[in-house]
Amino acid sequence: MNEIIKAGQILWQLKLNDSHSGNISKRSGNGFIITKTGTMLGFLDKSDICPVDMSEKIPQAASSESDIHKFIYTNLTSCNAIIHSHPVYATVLSYFYMHIKPFDYEGKFYFPNGINIVQDRTQIGGDSGIVILKNHGLFVWQDNMDEAIKITSTAESSSRLIYKRLLLEHIVQQRG
Ligand SMILES: [Zn+2]
Repeated sequence: MNEIIKAGQILWQLKLNDSHSGNISKRSGNGFIITKTGTMLGFLDKSDICPVDMSEKIPQAASSESDIHKFIYTNLTSCNAIIHSHPVYATVLSYFYMHIKPFDYEGKFYFPNGINIVQDRTQIGGDSGIVILKNHGLFVWQDNMDEAIKITSTAESSSRLIYKRLLLEHIVQQRG
């Protein structure tokens, strides 16, 4: 539970999410624990997190995107932590592209095949551990919470660099 609270604080401090959106979960027991719907991820306490049992119906208080978390945990036994966030640069790039290819050192290291942008939720999951849901935000599923934070943060950092590079290229070209 503390890992989720800490992850929420980090997302907020690094400006990877706005006040009330996104959700975070962690595998636990016969299911997972997840932030409740409408909570502020940067300011969570224990009452903002609820358990979801794999064999039972998703509780109403749980995040409205709990079904995606459930789907990923069911299909990927290696996944133990999921972060869904709404970072600005990754999201704005998804308006224009269906795939982004980081050019910075860190981004190339973590995303050698680039990052896919998908149209709908049924395309979330699989080996990549990350997708950008078009015009919505990032879904990151990893072995543990630290990795999920790192991948979220690196993806947004690489997206910011791509955005600034595109902008600068445009300015340089305009000036001839
Ligand atoms: Zn969302």
